[in-house]
Amino acid sequence: MVSKDMLRYGTIRSCIRELFEYGKQRSLVVGKENVYDFSIGNPSVPAPEEVNRAIKSLIDELPSTAIHGYTSGPGSNETRTAIINNLNKRFGTDYKFTDLYLTAGAAAALTATFRALTIDDKTEFIAFAPFFTEYSCFATTAGAKLKVIPADIPAFQINFDLLEKSINKNTQGVIVNSPNNPSGVIYTEETIKKLAELLRKKSAEVGHPIFIISDEPYRELVYEGKVPFIPHYYSNTIICYSYSKSLSLPGERIGYVLVPSCVEDHDDVYNAIAGAGRSLGYVCAPSLMQLVIARCADVEPDIRPYIKNRDLLYNGLTEIGYKCAKPSGAFYLFMEAPNGDAQTFSDMAKQLDLLIVPGNDFGCSSYVRISYCVDHEMIKRSLPVFKKLMEKIRG
Ligand code: PLP
Repeated sequence: MVSKDMLRYGTIRSCIRELFEYGKQRSLVVGKENVYDFSIGNPSVPAPEEVNRAIKSLIDELPSTAIHGYTSGPGSNETRTAIINNLNKRFGTDYKFTDLYLTAGAAAALTATFRALTIDDKTEFIAFAPFFTEYSCFATTAGAKLKVIPADIPAFQINFDLLEKSINKNTQGVIVNSPNNPSGVIYTEETIKKLAELLRKKSAEVGHPIFIISDEPYRELVYEGKVPFIPHYYSNTIICYSYSKSLSLPGERIGYVLVPSCVEDHDDVYNAIAGAGRSLGYVCAPSLMQLVIARCADVEPDIRPYIKNRDLLYNGLTEIGYKCAKPSGAFYLFMEAPNGDAQTFSDMAKQLDLLIVPGNDFGCSSYVRISYCVDHEMIKRSLPVFKKLMEKIRG
């Protein structure tokens, strides 16, 4: 006998993974150049040269035991100090390295945070559609419920009326992901101000803080406008960050949780996150990567290839007649299914070897997600196929 929930999570592949695996099989049959795989969010920009240099020099300079040994649970002081110095410089804050807990990427940061904030089986977290599909696995396995606020189409900001009605005394946190996966949209400053105001009012009403859990793996991938730094607007903000996308290191598993000192019950929140990390068996974030980040905390990503891809894709698709949310960040484009049904549209696209993800699992069944962290030439080759698909839909 095994846990039914774990068995389900272990056997049912996400729609993204299904398409990705299908693409690999299909490439063997029709040739890689004839499959247009826009399914997965693996960065296509190589890790910065500084990262490679750091790995090489660390191996030459340090004894193996210093590179590969356990670190303290929250991470090495040196790495946390380098990250905190970078944040304080950029955001004018005065955070301390003891506010930071290093993790194996944003996924570990989020699971530890959900666990730390889950009080009992009535606990609720709120996400805004479209949302990163794994939130529901992370929140429910922490023992909480995930409530989803329907998408605010076509702007993809926040529907505040629905949010206000959804908050109750069991609400512990609201998840914000901007730039957003899957829409690529950035929440405006006005949206963040309004959210902060509402959460302050609601926290007072329910008699406890309602946290913003800001999931920020795409914070550095911004093409237009600015991403408001949420702790400037709302003090009870916990940041979950990852270097998976900014430094193109998704397989290396490195990120952090930041609990700024102004968070209410700071020490309890921080220690509960550390306790959650311990209970999940995380032990410490990968040691070699901690050393790399200590040397590369100030390195900025090269976002030019993503801008080039975004422009080609967005302009090409809108010219054909597709309606798309214009992405200002991340590397995803959210496009309306012209027949109104994302699943059948994605199936029709698949028949043309065009692999795009239906938005159903993101909480938005009339849109599809197109990941443009791909080869620029593939986008060029795919546009006539998108055109053919539109002609098919129009009959
Ligand atoms: N949050 C969002 C919105 C994501 O898109 C992802 C990964 O794609 C994650 C969290 C998980 O990131 P990581 O690979 O750092 O665990």
